[in-house]
Amino acid sequence: MKNFISTRNGQAPLGFHQAIAQGIASDGGLLVPDFELPHLDIRNMTGMDYVSVAGEILAAFAPEEDRETLVGICRKAYGSGLFPEDAAPLRKVGDVWVTELTHGRTCAFKDMALSVLPHLMRLALDRSGEDRKVMILAATSGDTGKAALEGFRDVPGTAITVFYPSEGVSSVQKLQMITQEGGNVSVVGIDGNFDDAQRAVKQAFSDPGIAEECRRNGVFLSSANSINIGRLLPQIAYYFWSYLSMVRNGAINMGGKIDFCVPSGNFGNCLAGWMAREMGVPARRFTVASNPNDILTDFFRTGVYDARREFFKTCAPAMDILVSSNMERLLWYMTDKDGDRVRALMEGLRKDGYYKVEGDALDRIREDFRAGFLTEEEIKETIGKCYREHSYLLDTHTACGYGVLERLRREEGDSVPTVLMSTASPFKFPEAVLEAICGEKLESAGAISRLEQVTGIKAPLPLKGLENRKVLHNRKIDRTEMAGFIAASVRNK
Ligand SMILES: *Cc1c(COP(=O)(O)O)cnc(C)c1O
Repeated sequence: MKNFISTRNGQAPLGFHQAIAQGIASDGGLLVPDFELPHLDIRNMTGMDYVSVAGEILAAFAPEEDRETLVGICRKAYGSGLFPEDAAPLRKVGDVWVTELTHGRTCAFKDMALSVLPHLMRLALDRSGEDRKVMILAATSGDTGKAALEGFRDVPGTAITVFYPSEGVSSVQKLQMITQEGGNVSVVGIDGNFDDAQRAVKQAFSDPGIAEECRRNGVFLSSANSINIGRLLPQIAYYFWSYLSMVRNGAINMGGKIDFCVPSGNFGNCLAGWMAREMGVPARRFTVASNPNDILTDFFRTGVYDARREFFKTCAPAMDILVSSNMERLLWYMTDKDGDRVRALMEGLRKDGYYKVEGDALDRIREDFRAGFLTEEEIKETIGKCYREHSYLLDTHTACGYGVLERLRREEGDSVPTVLMSTASPFKFPEAVLEAICGEKLESAGAISRLEQVTGIKAPLPLKGLENRKVLHNRKIDRTEMAGFIAASVRNK
């Protein structure tokens, strides 16, 4: 039996299905496998399609589940109508290879996992004979919200509530969410930033008032954020896939090392990549890219994670994050799975606003990761330059990765082939991208059509006509009202 336990040592082991359904450990930690990460021979995956690769990965974590069922879930998730035949295509852009994780129905990489998670959740409920309803909570910096809403809309036995910072997402991201249809969805803007939203959502899981409301109404809570292990596991697949695509394209021979570069916020994407490396992807190291909220850059350089700093709203809002949840899982691995030490570090972050990693753990972290960030000005310069030189449109987040890679290559003269993870369509941030390309300033729909005109590149269909859709969710609350709001939602389900 393979089980999942807490990064903070205080949770009885859970099976795969329970781990998905519960979403977060009962002691406030994150769920992690209690077993060695399974090793898969990537050479055996040559010739597999995306669905099969993704199915292999899931099956490796859930030996108690029928393999065909898991492959079937991946087929439903990545099947036709939802993704192109190559769910995560690889492109060459200058010296860099780019894996586009942006072809799902909400045009951000969150679709890669949130197309799978609702099916896993339904499976988990069925296998455990659960008859309570699950209320999915999600805090979003812009992209998780829409991807989770699309994934869970009208899934029987589930309801979903999304909290977004009402002034902290792009105009297109906001339109995508507030026009969301579905009988089981609720979308609420909050006065506060992503960190406030994520903190309140995590706290809801241990709030006695909400727990009582849940008991009375036959409801339990779960999470669609990357704190849910069901988000992380599907993300491992596209690192295997990227490597296989590099081999197919002749960029490397099977077995040759590559680097990955990952625009990061909550660190779920990059952590999945690191896990893929442990599981058999021949990767050398990871470059973590940030925007001016450069807390991760400082951490990877110094070992000090210091959240006592100014928070910036940037043109790459999905990375406007100071408390990066999945760092906790990385620390757990890097401290040889020392849950007591992780708990102490997390306590320090909560109480004092920072923690410090030293010794072996820091050496290991430095060996596997390096980091950098771009200023807002540099993000726009990078988008403009990449478009002029390669006719390729970067979104504001992917641009952070592209620009950081360019700089580090100049400084360190790197020669290992590198795959950059592209995390969103540029048309989700049309104002910033348009301005970067030609200096023009237009708003949302106007910026989208102008960007199409100027570049001759078509915006993805799901992002067109948003301004004509009916606004269905215009509720806004203060961050202090979130617990009360969640309790009331549980009551009304
Ligand atoms: C969520 C997101 C990120 C950050 O990913 P993490 O897994 O939170 O590190 C980067 N770019 C875009 C466009 C995103 O939506």
